[in-house]
This record gives sequence, structure tokens and C-alpha cells, in this order.
Amino acid sequence: MHTPLLIPLDSLHPVDWLLAALSFAAERHRDQRRKGVLHAPYINHLIEVAHLLWSVGGVRDPEVLAAAILHDVLEDTPTAPEEINRLFGARVRALVQEVSDDKSLPQAERKRLQEEHAPYLTPDAKLIKIADKISNVRSILEDPPEQWSDARRREYVAWAVRVVAGMRGINPALEAEFDRMVERAREIWQDLP
Ligand code: ZN
Repeated sequence: MHTPLLIPLDSLHPVDWLLAALSFAAERHRDQRRKGVLHAPYINHLIEVAHLLWSVGGVRDPEVLAAAILHDVLEDTPTAPEEINRLFGARVRALVQEVSDDKSLPQAERKRLQEEHAPYLTPDAKLIKIADKISNVRSILEDPPEQWSDARRREYVAWAVRVVAGMRGINPALEAEFDRMVERAREIWQDLP
């Protein structure tokens, strides 16, 4: 597969980390769209997750922001962990692996494991996962997947609430942003947990 950038990152400015991660993620996710009616390019989701960390969570660590941009690359594209290791280093690779599901497991099992493992993630992985859930719940509210029933949308939000519950106490601003999104969901589904 084409790799757009191979600049050694150890001596670069933090902006280089972000641009390199964006370049790599945009290339790997190039044929993917979000499931919503708008079919937003997948990269928009990755930008949103990093943007939430930066602007809401106050995260300034370039490796965490790069890992946020790359957080779905193992799960959703044919990318090997070693590639991330080579381009972005061991810490970014470890973070991306931490927030990736095991794709060999059935969907229901993967969701159950996310809930079970969330409290034991490292603090930086928790930040990425909370921002991911904010972005996903926002999509469910504003641009839901075409085929999803009302019940399935509600169930996704209820599950996200349970996953985030296991990661609280890490970044109050991000957690408040998640809660704000869930409040919006409660206007539709009053019986949410
Ligand atoms: Zn994601």
C-alpha cells in the first residue's frame, strides 16, 4: 500500500506529527465514509477526535494527538502495528493498539469487552476513547447511519454512556462535553441511563 510520508519524526516540530498523522490516516481511510446519510469522509471523524482533545480537553501532547488521528487505522484499514511503530514510534503504536478492538471477535463481544476494559486503559488512551465517543454520539444525533433503527441508535448511546462511565475522573472538560451530548440524546430518548 502507498505510504505518503516517511519523514523521521524524532526531530520535528509537533505540527509535523499532526500533519504526518493526517496524511497517513487520510491515505489509509481514503475509500471510507461515515455511515450517516451525509456520507462524510472518514477523515472528518479523525480530525474531530483530535480537535476535541485539543480544544475541549486541552491536550497538547503531539503523540496523543497523532494517536487520536490514527485511532481507527488498525481496526478499519489494512495497517500493521509495525508501520505505526516505524513512522510514529512505540508510544503512538501502543496507544492506537490500546483503543483498537480485536476485529476477529464478533461485534457484540467487542462491545462488551470495550465496556469491561475501559477502566483499565492508560490515561492517554482514555482521553482518545472519550473523544471518540463524543464524536460518535454526535454523529448518531446529527447524521445517523441510514439503516439504523431508532432502537439501535438509542442502544449505541446507552452503551457509550456505560463505556465512558468506566473512564471518568481523567479530564473533566471532555467528560462534561460527553455529558452535554448525552443530554441532547435524552431529549430524544428520555429513558437513557
Ligand atoms: Zn473512531
